Amino acid sequence: MDEVLAPALAERQRLDLQRSRRTLDSAQGPAVRVDSRDYVNFCSNDYLGLASHPEVIAAARQAAADYGVGSGASHLVCGHTILHHQLEERIAAFTGRPRALLFSTGYMANLGVITALVGRGDSVFEDRLNHASLLDGGLLSGARFQRFAHNDPDALERGLAKAESGRKLVVVDGVFSMDGDIAPLPELAAVAARRDAWLMVDDAHGFGVLGANGAGSVAHFGLTAAQVPVLMGTLGKSAGVFGAFVAGSETLIETLIQFARPYIYTTALPPMVAGATLAAIDLVEREAWRRDHLRALISHWRSGAKSLGLPVLDSDTAIQPLLAGDAAQALAISAALAERGLWVTAIRPPTVPAGTARLRVTLTAAHSVAQVDRLLEALAEVWPLS
Ligand SMILES: *Cc1c(COP(=O)(O)O)cnc(C)c1O
Repeated sequence: MDEVLAPALAERQRLDLQRSRRTLDSAQGPAVRVDSRDYVNFCSNDYLGLASHPEVIAAARQAAADYGVGSGASHLVCGHTILHHQLEERIAAFTGRPRALLFSTGYMANLGVITALVGRGDSVFEDRLNHASLLDGGLLSGARFQRFAHNDPDALERGLAKAESGRKLVVVDGVFSMDGDIAPLPELAAVAARRDAWLMVDDAHGFGVLGANGAGSVAHFGLTAAQVPVLMGTLGKSAGVFGAFVAGSETLIETLIQFARPYIYTTALPPMVAGATLAAIDLVEREAWRRDHLRALISHWRSGAKSLGLPVLDSDTAIQPLLAGDAAQALAISAALAERGLWVTAIRPPTVPAGTARLRVTLTAAHSVAQVDRLLEALAEVWPLS
């Protein structure tokens, strides 16, 4: 087997596309310890700085003490605890929808929802920059799979106009994970309504940070559940914990409970994860200063990066990529920053399209202005490398 597998690994290495893992020896946060060195961390999705928050840790401890660590079974057998149930009700209220359903991961939620809603004879339309889990869900569903040009409602409408009979599901990221731009949800919702299609938003990067109280990109645009009937979000990014949810109508959630295989055939999240997430959502809602500080850091970063002439993308969110183009170049810049105690991961194909390797800088509410300035000063020295 190894002989068969080895050439593909060698090829990845040759193209500077080999991925590797760094091992943290500290809690997640703006300051981390990796391989015995301290870094300022600019690559986590812990946008509100909640992953290591004392109240979240205390809630996890308490839940473990009260309900144990393992859930013991799937939700439909005997793993669904009162903490899971309370969290679902909390998320439903927070997102303004009748019901919500927990999934173990966002990846599984996306596979589960799409395959439960469409199948052979139906059509699924996805933005070409959608997250891998959405693309995989679309392919797995067996529905006719069509990608449309990034953030282009007209392209979507042309595709929908040609769709044959059957259900039509439109799926987009609320905030695109590698670019940071926000989907034009009002326009997409209008097209979907006109063409009798259902709109699903994956708000992994909008939940917690967008909208006045953090309810996400759908709230940011003031859209209703009728306009966006399927709202998916993850709990391992802004909420700082782990897991995912789908929020929507009673009928949607009941459909998922009955038919979403990645929901049915997997062990329920540890109850302590649900307990920790309840505490995290309290913080998301209560501490608006986290969103305000993050917004201030984003504008500080953008004006600094622009005045240095850095290749920023058109993003107003916590995801602030710098386009390097070449994978080797992105790796070299990432290494030069690491030498200066700054951790910014190089994101390369196939995660992003060929020729668009980038440094994916992420800002969080736990960063200080001084830390952002340190990154800008280092970039002024190392970018561009010849
Ligand atoms: C992270 C992410 C997911 C996957 O969520 P996990 O809970 O990490 O599995 C899905 N969609 C998008 C857009 C994401 O960024």
